[in-house]
Amino acid sequence: MSSAERDELVCTNVVGHLIGSSLEAGGSRTTPVYNPATGRISREVQVADKATVERAVSVAAEAYPAWRQMPPVKRARIMFRFKELLEQNEERIVSLITDEHGKVLDDARGELRRGIENVEYACAAPELLKGEHSRNAGPGIDSWSEMQPLGVVAGITPFNFPAMVPLWMYPIALVCGNTFVLKPSERDPSSTLLVAELLYEAGLPEGVLSVVNGDKETVDALLADRRVAAVSFVGSTPVAEHVYNSAGGKRVQALGGAKNHAIVMPDADIDNAVSALMGAAYGSCGERCMAISVVVAVGDIADEVVAKLAAQVRELKVGPGTDDGNDMGPLITAAHRDKVSAYVDRGVEEGAELVVDGRGITVPGHEDGFFLAGNLFDNVKPGMDIYKDEIFGPVLSVVRVDSLDDAMQLADDHEFGNGTCVFTRDGETARYFSDHIKVGMVGINVPLPVPVACHSFGGWKRSLFGDLAIYGPDAVRFYTQRKTMSQRWPSSGDRERARFSFPSSD
Ligand code: NAD
Repeated sequence: MSSAERDELVCTNVVGHLIGSSLEAGGSRTTPVYNPATGRISREVQVADKATVERAVSVAAEAYPAWRQMPPVKRARIMFRFKELLEQNEERIVSLITDEHGKVLDDARGELRRGIENVEYACAAPELLKGEHSRNAGPGIDSWSEMQPLGVVAGITPFNFPAMVPLWMYPIALVCGNTFVLKPSERDPSSTLLVAELLYEAGLPEGVLSVVNGDKETVDALLADRRVAAVSFVGSTPVAEHVYNSAGGKRVQALGGAKNHAIVMPDADIDNAVSALMGAAYGSCGERCMAISVVVAVGDIADEVVAKLAAQVRELKVGPGTDDGNDMGPLITAAHRDKVSAYVDRGVEEGAELVVDGRGITVPGHEDGFFLAGNLFDNVKPGMDIYKDEIFGPVLSVVRVDSLDDAMQLADDHEFGNGTCVFTRDGETARYFSDHIKVGMVGINVPLPVPVACHSFGGWKRSLFGDLAIYGPDAVRFYTQRKTMSQRWPSSGDRERARFSFPSSD
C-alpha cells in the first residue's frame, strides 16, 4: 500500500486498530475525533472491546517467545531503522498531530524529536542489557545477573503528546525483549497509529507491537487480562490512581497530573525569566504535564513580574496550529475549553485578580474552533481551587510570598510534585532549592526540566504511582526482571561432604 493510500484509508473516516502489522476493525462503538481548530469532526475512532483486546494480547503472547530470544543487537537494529523512518516521515506525523491535537506545527516537531531521542536510547540495547558478572563470588563459584523480559506489557497514553509519550514506552520495552499492546488516547489517535506502523516498516516481526484504540472499556479489558504482565500509564491523576489500584497484581507505573511551580527570586534576570515563563505556561496552550501553572514571586519583584508577564500575555498570537506564526493553537475539545474557562470564572469568584482575561475569544475564519487566549491571575492564594487543581489550559497564577522558604513550602505542600524550577543568579539558593524541594524534576533557570532520554522522567507525590519513573534507566528496570545465577564446576575427583552451615565465601 502506498503511503498516500494508507493515509486515505486510516485518516479520512474510521480509525481502527493495528493488530500485529494489520490495520483491522474491532468493537461496535466509535468515538469522534475533532479538528480542534475548526471544531469539526474529522474522523471516528473505534473503541476496542474485550474480544479485540484479547486478540491483540494473544498476538503479542504468540510473538513473545521468538522475540525474547532475538539477540538485543538485532532488536536494536530495528530501532535504528525506525529512527530513520521517523525522521523521513516527520512532516506526515507532525501534520497529523496538529490536525487532531491542535498544537502549532513547530511544537509538534519538538514533541516528535523528543520522542525519537527515546528510540535512540533504545538502540543501546546490547549495552543496557549486558548484566553483571562476578568471578569467584564464592570458592570456585561465579555469579551473574541478567535482566529478563516480563512478557506482554501494555501502555496507556494521554492526548497531549500522541507521538512522544508512546515513544517513552514501547521502544525500550521492546528492546528489553517484551511484546507490547498500546492503548493511545481516543482524542488524537492517528499520529500514534502511523508511528507504530513505521516500526513494522522498519522490520519489526509480526505481532510484537499492537495498537488498540478505545477508551475506559479498552483500558479495563487490558487491566483484566491476566496475560498482561505490566502496565505503563500516563494521564490524569484520578485515572492513574484507578489503574494503579485495579491492575490485579501486575507491575504498574502510573504517571499523573501536575501543578508546577516556578519560583522567581529577587536576584533573577526578570526579563529572561518572564520569557521563559511565557513559553512554559502558554506553550501547547498549557496542555503539558510539565507546564508552569504557578509563578511564586519572592519579595518585592512581584509587581515587575506581573506587569511584564501581562504585557506578553496580551500579545500572544492565538490561531490554528497549522500557522507557525501562532503561539497557541486551540484546546483539545470544546468541553475542555469550557472547563478551563469555568476555572477562570471560579478564580474571579474566589477573589483572585484577573489581570488578563482570555475568555470568549473568536479566531476569524475559525469561529467554531476550541480557542481560548492566555489568562493571568495575580494575588492567588493557596486555598483557591485555581491554585489547588490542575487546570491544563492557558491559565497562569501568580502567588506572592516573602521568602524562598515560603515559596518552597507552597510547592512542598501541594498534592502534585511533578516539576518545578527556580529563577536565580545565586548558586547557594539554587543548590539549597534542588537539594530540599519535594518535587521529582527540578530546573535551575530551566522552566521545563523534562529529563533527556538517558535520564528518567517521573514526579513525586500524587504525580506518580509506582516505584520507577518512565524511560531511561528506570525503564530498563521496569520492563525487566532480574535473575541471578550462581554456578560452580567442582572437579569430578573431589568428594564433598554435606554441609549444614549457611554457605558463605569462607
Ligand atoms: P486521561 O487520564 O483522561 O486519559 C489518559 C488515558 O486513560 C487515555 O488513554 C484514556 O483513554 C484513558 N482513560 C480515561 N479515563 C479512563 C478511565 N476512567 N478508566 C480507564 N482509562 C481511562 O488524561 P488526558 O486528558 O488524556 O491527558 C491529560 C492528563 O495527562 C493531564 O492530567 C496531564 O498532567 C497528564 N499527563 C501526565 C504526564 C506525566 O508524565 N506525568 C504526561 C502527559 C500528560
